[in-house]
Amino acid sequence: MASNYDLEIKRAMLSYNSWSSRHASGFKKYIKSLIQKEQEYYCCHCLRDIRSENERVKHIEHILPKSKFPAYTFDIKNLAISCVRCNSDIKLDDTEFLTCNLDIYKERWSNTVYKSTNYRFIHPKLDEIKEHLHRETRVKEDRVYYFYKTLSEKGEYHYEYFKLSYYSKEYISEVQGVKTESNASESRIIINNLFKKNKETNCH
Ligand SMILES: [Zn+2]
Repeated sequence: MASNYDLEIKRAMLSYNSWSSRHASGFKKYIKSLIQKEQEYYCCHCLRDIRSENERVKHIEHILPKSKFPAYTFDIKNLAISCVRCNSDIKLDDTEFLTCNLDIYKERWSNTVYKSTNYRFIHPKLDEIKEHLHRETRVKEDRVYYFYKTLSEKGEYHYEYFKLSYYSKEYISEVQGVKTESNASESRIIINNLFKKNKETNCH
């Protein structure tokens, strides 16, 4: 249980960079394994299957960045597992996705930060992902490609924020034999058609 690490976390929090402290290592290992299982080995943001990826590219993601919201560095509600692209290439320590200013809670823990409406994108711990985003896969020559259908405004924001069209573009380009620069709206039409086709198939 996470409480077994309470003392070590307290020690870690005394360090300048608490997350990198040696006192945090046991908790990090424990939490990584636990959350991966809970998430069924999908990246919390792009929903790709990252089971077979190297441990180094599966990151413990702080939804509220630890550099800006230190009070939530070890809070399990603020932690999820993401792929390196979503965490390091896209999100980093950005907070643009917040709908309101939560600065007064940066250093002082408050449950107030954990309201779904505070987040423009889908929060892996506060939102029901399937209400906002539907994800499908296509396999071509042993490669898995991901397609997304947005189901709400939050899903739409999430799709744009994490640049999810990236995962379908390559497939679409390959199928069409065109370059990867197919624009977003064109990709969207093709994705919608794929979902439509699939829906029709399921009906029969
Ligand atoms: Zn991801």
